[in-house]
Amino acid sequence: RNPFVNLKYEPALESLGNDYYDEVAAAEFPQHILRWRNDALLPRLGLDPQTVTDEDFITAFGKFAERQPLLALRYHGYQFGEYNSGLGDGRGFLYGQVRGIDGELYDFGTKGSGRTPYSRGGDGMLTLKGGVREVLAAEALHYLGVRTSRCLTMIETGLSLWRGDEPSPTRSSVMVRMSSSHIRFGTFERLYYLRRPDLSQKLLNHVIEQYYAHLITEVDKYALFYAELVKRVAELVAQWMVAGFCHGVLNTDNMSITGESFDYGPYAFIPTYDPYFTAAYFDYYRRYCYSHQPGICKLNLEMLQEPLKEIIDKGVMEQGLAKFDEYYRAEYRALMLKRLGFENLQTPELDELFPLTIEFLQDSRVPYHQFFAEMARTFAANWRDDPAFVLHDSDIVPATGASAMFDNWCILYHKALNNFDIDKIDVIAQNLRRYNPKTALLRPVIESIWEPIIQDDNWQPFYQLIEKIKSGD
Ligand code: AMP
Ligand code: MG
Ligand code: MG
Repeated sequence: RNPFVNLKYEPALESLGNDYYDEVAAAEFPQHILRWRNDALLPRLGLDPQTVTDEDFITAFGKFAERQPLLALRYHGYQFGEYNSGLGDGRGFLYGQVRGIDGELYDFGTKGSGRTPYSRGGDGMLTLKGGVREVLAAEALHYLGVRTSRCLTMIETGLSLWRGDEPSPTRSSVMVRMSSSHIRFGTFERLYYLRRPDLSQKLLNHVIEQYYAHLITEVDKYALFYAELVKRVAELVAQWMVAGFCHGVLNTDNMSITGESFDYGPYAFIPTYDPYFTAAYFDYYRRYCYSHQPGICKLNLEMLQEPLKEIIDKGVMEQGLAKFDEYYRAEYRALMLKRLGFENLQTPELDELFPLTIEFLQDSRVPYHQFFAEMARTFAANWRDDPAFVLHDSDIVPATGASAMFDNWCILYHKALNNFDIDKIDVIAQNLRRYNPKTALLRPVIESIWEPIIQDDNWQPFYQLIEKIKSGD
């Protein structure tokens, strides 16, 4: 018996009644070639990877055998600032909901599984490259410490897809995402649009029960829910910023009600610290560029007050939102200090070092990820022999062209180091290694694994890249 079909699915969303979804059928594919199985997720489902075969993945998530109902979720959203009431799962569905051994409820959500009532002009399919890119983004972000959905599996499906931005037909895939939830800000926006406060209330109760369970017994649970969502989103966007990640399409339908990162389309990791770096080629006005992400997430939270104001006092939500900046700054600082090797300590040197680092990265345009990776490498290579060793710009990045500022940065960095006990130097070395992986998922890196796939159907570089992402090497 197929272990995925046999999981104990919980009709959590289904139990709310059929106002939130449509039952749909899955596409039938000419081929099913398993390209990715995320064995790291199986133990959380109570499954031993050894006992799960490739065929099990294919039968469950390529053929969708013995699983019903499949639910296309209904939602609306603001896309690039414009309200769109024509959204909803247009190429995916909720396959099922399962409780992990950690007690959390998880969604299996498909992408590329065929047309639904919300497909509009679309074919309901996912390109193979789109599948590959989402697998990689989720793994890279996860191992960088970002709270993200992951891909459980990705199967090549043997269709030729025409995409406007590509000159010839391209290969197809179906992907299954494991996430905390697929309820979005846009799910509430739709109910507000339809003037159904009763359905909003029911959904919000469900959200609190499932994803904010510690609030259930609180008298002001609704207000506390919004305040906590603000905190979760502020921390998430700080995690992206420190990771050098640009999501690309921060529409309200891509914002999870649990504050988890999900839905990776035209994302990119920044090559350099360029505030205006924009991931989506169709984002003409740079609305979702790298440095706008905190402001946009805050704006999305503000817009969520509109549909929620029937349940939660507006003034109270405004108070909750007012803490966004504080949460964001605290998380950003703590994480950036870790990339510099330090724990979140308050010392005058660190208070100076932190903004100077950003200024240096921005002015010098040194490669963002390489800067940190080289720092970790240089440190590891030198500190045992000479804990007071001096970093030079040649160690970090050859020819930065910003030497004076870099010299200042080095002086400050060493001052900060010298304030630590010598036995803490080990901790610094560990942090540097842990938070500054050698491999960054820059676009040329993705292209380098994509080439062998399309040229020779060679998937080894893809698997090797994932191994590198996992190990930090
Ligand atoms: P996204 O930009 O991926 O967040 O999707 C925005 C909306 O477009 C969602 O309603 C998707 O389901 C829908 N969509 C995107 N691509 C397709 C497609 N190939 N076929 C049908 N619907 C799609
Ligand atoms: Mg989306
Ligand atoms: Mg998408």
